[in-house]
Amino acid sequence: MEIIQAVRGTRDILPEEVRIWQQVEAKAREILGRACYQEIRTPIFELTELFARGIGSATDVVGKEMYSFSTRGEQEVSLRPENTAGVVRAYIQHGLQAAGDVQRLWYCGPMFRYERPQAGRQRQFHQLGLELIGSRDPRADAEVIALAWDLLQAVGAENLKLLLNSIGDPQDRLAYRQALVDYFTPFREQLDPDSQDRLTRNPLRILDSKDPRTREIADQAPKLLNHLSPDSQAFFEQVQAQLHKLGIPYELDPYLVRGLDYYTHTAFEIVSPDLGAQSTVCGGGRYDGLVAELGGPSTPAVGWAMGMERLVLLLQKKQGSVASAPVQVYVISRGAKAEAQSLQIAQSLRQAGFCTELDLSGSAFGKQFKRASRSGAIWAVTLGDAEAATGEVQLKHLPTGKQQTLLQAELVNYLGSQWER
Ligand code: ATP
Ligand code: MG
Repeated sequence: MEIIQAVRGTRDILPEEVRIWQQVEAKAREILGRACYQEIRTPIFELTELFARGIGSATDVVGKEMYSFSTRGEQEVSLRPENTAGVVRAYIQHGLQAAGDVQRLWYCGPMFRYERPQAGRQRQFHQLGLELIGSRDPRADAEVIALAWDLLQAVGAENLKLLLNSIGDPQDRLAYRQALVDYFTPFREQLDPDSQDRLTRNPLRILDSKDPRTREIADQAPKLLNHLSPDSQAFFEQVQAQLHKLGIPYELDPYLVRGLDYYTHTAFEIVSPDLGAQSTVCGGGRYDGLVAELGGPSTPAVGWAMGMERLVLLLQKKQGSVASAPVQVYVISRGAKAEAQSLQIAQSLRQAGFCTELDLSGSAFGKQFKRASRSGAIWAVTLGDAEAATGEVQLKHLPTGKQQTLLQAELVNYLGSQWER
């Protein structure tokens, strides 16, 4: 029969890889928790309108990449392509602004974008992200960047570069937009089709193009940094001063623009050359316009999202795999009575905290012993019909081969005393 495969652009994360994910998630919980960020979990689908308003219909993410459908004719919904809009929706819906002047939130979960699958780019992928909502202070921008940086260092990612830019406020961008249109229009025919389209809809995004010829042209384009108002300029300098104080190195990248319409001022990416074409591990910035755009009180905010798959790829390249939890005790049984007691013994060991594997094969003792050694267990607990009848087990210390008979009732205490020594 034909074998059914996972859908194109999705992938299974097998146990060996999951262990790396768990390491990253544990570090995130620790580092973000210490900075007083709280985890939030929002639904993986939302009303399509949320993304259209919160991200912008002119963006590729909303215009081309969303998985949208109607729920049996009731509502138009979309699988979330990112989670800032969802978190801000929850923030407004539950009146979280009333709970204090700032909210520090983080999340981790699957996102969905209909893109061309390639290394580091999938249709279902995962982001770990955070949002600091309610502060206009440049220290907030530096704090979130510092946390991304700390987390990446803590999990052992290397060879990273922080790219920084300011995209100003909407006022600054209005003037800049015209400068860009004026600059690109004479080159119109040489731009890639997407960028030609963006010339009228979203000229800033042309700077984001990966097409080689468009890149060449874009690299000579006017810089937004030269169109910033004095206030925007001062703000950007303060963010940089904070990063400098924290000893976080960065490079200014005048053409770094975020794909999403709600961003203001600080924009940043953390990239690694080890990732090839999909080099961005983390992207973020300030989005002072979003809360109001979604119907909440005008509230400044800043945040980022990290691509888990790309981060895990980096770590796999560097450290290989992570060992699974070691088996400590291996339970061997043969014969109906012994087998009937074996699960109970294994469960009592597990409940007492020992990592215990139960052999379910019913095969000969010799074969089960071989598997016990291969498992890396330190102890083998064996029972046949004789032990089952007397309520005993054979306990073998595998490294030395020393064996003894013990009452089943004494097993947990005995192993406990051995581990303490
Ligand atoms: P890219 O330029 O790589 O398409 P983006 O600007 O679309 O990135 P963001 O929306 O800022 O990405 O998302 C933040 C991070 O999420 C990215 O830096 C990346 O690590 C990850 N990411 C985004 N899209 C995908 C995808 N399709 N597959 C895997 N990871 C992704
Ligand atoms: Mg993208």
